Amino acid sequence: YGPQCQAFEKEFAAWNGNKHAIFTNSGTAALHMALVACGVGAGDHVLVTSYSWSSSATCIIHHNAIPIFVDIDFDTINIDVNKIEKAITKKTKAIVVVHLHGLAVNMEKVMAIARKRKLKVIEDACQAHGALFKGKKVGTFGDCAAFSFNQNKCLCTGEGGMFVTNNDDMRAL
Ligand SMILES: *Cc1c(COP(=O)(O)O)cnc(C)c1O
Repeated sequence: YGPQCQAFEKEFAAWNGNKHAIFTNSGTAALHMALVACGVGAGDHVLVTSYSWSSSATCIIHHNAIPIFVDIDFDTINIDVNKIEKAITKKTKAIVVVHLHGLAVNMEKVMAIARKRKLKVIEDACQAHGALFKGKKVGTFGDCAAFSFNQNKCLCTGEGGMFVTNNDDMRAL
């Protein structure tokens, strides 16, 4: 958290269009922060896709919540937005939406469902720095998002991650 890290947080938030950015040691750590920020706890169901890096789902288990897998769409290899509603139960608290391989999920559909069913939305943008949905950067649609700067990602610091949000309360957590 020296001056370079703080400068990077500021620059990244401005570049991506987020109010807040918090540098982490990994994308996985940023996902953990996102679950806490969304109030996910023991026994909650969190929707996610199984076709992703493992931490998209293991971050949910680490908080004693239960990952509920939604099938992917074979044209995008991302979550099939038409199968989200069927997976929602009274226990569902949040959705981890993975923008895999730099391809943005249809966030218009995801956010419409989330608002209707009062779910929190966490964008796993670990593979999608700079990816756009309808001209707007990923990581700006949901309640918060996670980026990774691991050595094999679109933007790399060796190891590292970023938690981003536009919500002041989540920043304060
Ligand atoms: C890499 C990756 C992560 C985790 O990032 P790390 O910095 O390696 O912890 C999470 N989700 C997806 C989709 C990833 O590709």
